[in-house]
Order: sequence, then C-alpha cells, then structure tokens
Amino acid sequence: AKGEGKNCWRVFTSSMLQATRERRTVIADFTLALKRQEFEVYYQPILSYDHPETLKAEALLRWKHPQKGMISPGVFIPLAEEVGLIHALGDWCLKRVLQDQQNWQAEGLPCPVIAINTSAKQFTHDEVARKWLKALQDFGASSDQLIMEITESLLLQQQSEVVGQLKILRDAGIRIALDDFGTGYSSLSYLSSFELDYLKIDRSFVQGIVQNSKDEAVTDAIIAMAHKLGLQVVAEGVETLDQEEVLRRQHCDFAQGYHYARPMPEAQFREFFTRRQLA
Ligand code: C2E
Ligand code: CA
Ligand code: CA
Ligand code: CA
Repeated sequence: AKGEGKNCWRVFTSSMLQATRERRTVIADFTLALKRQEFEVYYQPILSYDHPETLKAEALLRWKHPQKGMISPGVFIPLAEEVGLIHALGDWCLKRVLQDQQNWQAEGLPCPVIAINTSAKQFTHDEVARKWLKALQDFGASSDQLIMEITESLLLQQQSEVVGQLKILRDAGIRIALDDFGTGYSSLSYLSSFELDYLKIDRSFVQGIVQNSKDEAVTDAIIAMAHKLGLQVVAEGVETLDQEEVLRRQHCDFAQGYHYARPMPEAQFREFFTRRQLA
C-alpha cells in the first residue's frame, strides 16, 4: 500500500508539472501571438428584418496558430481568461474593430455597427468602461458604432462595480446586448434591474423552433417579453428559411446565422456590405 501511495504521488507531481509546463507554453504562445498578429477579427453579419438596408455585425476572434492551425475562440478564450490574458486580447480586439471602422469611413464605405463580446472576467479587476471610452476618443469614433455583448454570468454577480460600469457605458451611448439568453443562469430579474438594449436568443432555442412547438413557444414568449421591456431581439444561429419564417412571424427584430452568412475576414465582410449597398 505504501508503494502504491508513493507511485500515486509521483504520478500526481509529474502531471502537475506537465500542467504547469502546458500553462507556461500557453502563456508564452499567447504573448507571442499578440505580438506576431496571429489573431484576427472575423465579422458575422446581423440582419434587420424590419430595415433590410441596415447592417450590423458581431466581431468574433480567430487565432491562426503557426503550428496548430486555426484555433477556435471556444478553446482559447477560456484559456486567456484563466491565465489573465483576456484583458490584453480584449483591448486588441476593440482597437482592431475601431481601426477597421475608421478605414471603412475613410474610404467612403458604409460603417456597420459592430458588436464586441466581453466576458465577465474582463469586468473584474479592470476598468472596461474607461478603456472603451478612451478607445472611442482615440479613434474619434462615435459611441453608437459599438455594441457590447455581455453574458448572464456577468449580471449574476450583481456587484455595484459591474452596475456602475454598465451605466457609464450606456450613458455614453454604447448599447448593451445580453448574449446567449436562455442558457446558464437565466433569471428574469436581470431584465428589469439592468438597462439593456438587445437580447440575443441562444442558438439552442432557435434550432428547434420549426420541429418543436415548445421551443417555438419559448422564443415567442422571450420576444414578446423583451418587446414589453423595450428591448430588441436578435435570434442567433438561424440556419434555415423555415426558422426565419417562424422568427418573422414572432416579430423578431434581428437575425444572425449560417442561413445569411458565416463569420468572415474583414476583406470579405467589406465586400459583403458593399455589394449589399449597391444591390
Ligand atoms: P457567441 O458570442 O455566442 O458567438 C456565436 C457563435 O456561434 C460563433 O462561434 C459563431 O461562429 C457561431 N455561429 C453563428 N451562426 C451560427 C449558425 O448558424 N450555426 C452554428 N452552428 N453556429 C453559428 P465562434 O466564432 O466559434 O465563437 C465562440 C464563442 O467564443 C463566442 O460565442 C464567444 O462567446 C467567444 N468569443 C469569440 N470572440 C470573442 C471575443 O472577442 N471576446 C470574448 N470575450 N469572447 C469571444
Ligand atoms: Ca456573442
Ligand atoms: Ca451567443
Ligand atoms: Ca419588428
């Protein structure tokens, strides 16, 4: 039994070492990746059902790792949060978006409103509101060019710090979207206690609205409730025309999904909205 214990201990320490090494590798890779510009912002169009001439988009990060290839944000965002590099990454993404918008304007192109994801971790120990306002000022950008997407886990914290920062952002004219609505810690009390502009219905509900009458009832109720609270609704993950038809019938305001367009690099997105304007 003593021998086994010793063995376990050895295994434990070596895996701990491995974890530490892996962690160090990730931190080193990340820091380098930021320097080497291995990150890229992709844009996924968000269409308005009532005003098809307007266009918004969501900024979605991509990491083109020189050895590992394309790494999904679902993998590297949680890592970045864990090792504390989410702040640097968030700053980079914000500036990249503002730079792209500045370029579009300088070239006389339309300038779509861009929604940027902000994780709850970016609110803790960090003055997100101050950073956003400073960046807007530095780029001479208008606050209505940006939407901040936040998740329910942020509102769950209910800290005065979070409330204060959201108020600063919103008072400055930046609109706030509640992302992934209906997943996780849904509590309807958020909707009345926080000042929000958009509610994004999670893809998991949209997926079932054609086949499943319960999912259809859920999106119908969410949309009606959101409208009563003065919020506009974005349906996420719309993949078929049948889904669009249900959503239109339910008076959903905006839609995003593969049925319209996948997330794409800036050059392609610029073509997408330029063509739309000409059409
Ligand atoms: P999210 O904010 O919920 O973004 C939507 C995700 O759904 C994106 O995945 C998008 O590519 C995918 N999607 C869009 N339409 C469809 C569809 O019709 N069908 C399906 N199956 N999927 C669709 P992606 O780009 O892999 O991003 C994953 C998550 O990573 C995002 O989820 C977001 O939480 C996070 N993320 C991405 N960029 C950033 C960022 O700059 N900052 C932070 N904090 N998080 C980010
Ligand atoms: Ca999002
Ligand atoms: Ca989402
Ligand atoms: Ca409408």
